[in-house]
Amino acid sequence: MNIQYNKSLLAYNTFHIDETASEFTIVKDEHQLFEVLRYAHEQQQEIKIMGGGSNILLTQKADCLIVLNQLKGIVTAEETDTFTDIQFMSGENWHQCVRYCVEKNLGGIENLSLIPGSIGAAPIQNIGAYGAELKDVFVSLTAIHTKTLQKHQFNGTQCAFGYRDSIFKHAEHRHYFIVSVTLRLQKKPAFNTDYGDIQQVLKEDFNDQRSLQHISDAVIKIRRSKLPDPEVTGNAGSFFKNPVVAEAHARQLRQLFSEMPSYPVDNGVKIPAAWLIEQCGWKGYQAGNFGVHSRQPLVLVNYADAKGADILELSNKIITSVQQRFNILLEREVNIW
Ligand SMILES: Cc1cc2nc3c(=O)[nH]c(=O)nc-3n(C[C@H](O)[C@H](O)[C@H](O)COP(=O)(O)OP(=O)(O)OC[C@H]3O[C@@H](n4cnc5c(N)ncnc54)[C@H](O)[C@@H]3O)c2cc1C
Repeated sequence: MNIQYNKSLLAYNTFHIDETASEFTIVKDEHQLFEVLRYAHEQQQEIKIMGGGSNILLTQKADCLIVLNQLKGIVTAEETDTFTDIQFMSGENWHQCVRYCVEKNLGGIENLSLIPGSIGAAPIQNIGAYGAELKDVFVSLTAIHTKTLQKHQFNGTQCAFGYRDSIFKHAEHRHYFIVSVTLRLQKKPAFNTDYGDIQQVLKEDFNDQRSLQHISDAVIKIRRSKLPDPEVTGNAGSFFKNPVVAEAHARQLRQLFSEMPSYPVDNGVKIPAAWLIEQCGWKGYQAGNFGVHSRQPLVLVNYADAKGADILELSNKIITSVQQRFNILLEREVNIW
């Protein structure tokens, strides 16, 4: 176990925020993980788990032990004529695993191409994009309780997946380190091309051919055209969730804003947060070295060496203005540390 002290986290978060951790360590196998968890337990040191750091905004020094997850490994857990269950260790890179499945002609996660981060973080907020969500292919995960050091297995029902949500986002389950995730991939997958511009890109770029590879490539192309590359401009993807309001509230808003986009969902009406933010005049807003992305107002950006606290304050201002104009309380998707 190698603990580093007052370690800069600049290289480990896609927002490129330069905050330090009082203690920092990397785990590459389960033995190291147990060693680190025992150490933290003995020292009564709080731990925080980091994967790709693509869904975190650092707003202050992390006065804890940051454990960077690099648990690697991919094995086939079960195989039938129709599906293959693959167990991914949680430190594997999500997008590389998507491409691994696409190359093996195993379908189900191709629409989730190019989402940054680790396999282990994917269930935390039930990652989703282009009409697909992690929960659609999820079989189970194993996790270690960081206080009791007990290993537990969770199936989909136990994870209680929702829109960018699972039990792991809530207080009583925050103390789990997700070690591995098993997904069910289909050998004869049904292609899901209805969402966004996928069909258009398939037509224009691939002569309307359809395969997992074509869909993955189309999604990659669309995402590159719409979202800032975190390698170039610091960001953590969508900063806010799309709010869901009661039908009566949506009706009232439609009378005032006839052009407001909205989509019926199980528990009400979903309104794109990007539209609400744009209506409040934030699209392309820049305050020195941080601001709101000019093409995608859901994305807050760090142009140079911004402070996480400034970006948090900007998010508060956005929340207040949306609430004042539309009486809708935006919820953050990004984890604030
Ligand atoms: C450009 C860009 C585009 C994005 N697009 C999307 C998108 O389309 N859809 C989407 O859903 N998300 C998207 N995201 C958000 C992000 O990529 C996902 O939430 C991703 O799953 C985060 O993975 P990570 O490993 O970087 O997690 P981190 O940022 O490292 O951690 C996020 C949270 O998960 C916890 N965590 C991480 N690993 C573990 C583990 N092994 N066990 C327990 N807890 C853990 C952390 O403690 C933290 O609370 C985007 C982000 C960026 C930068």
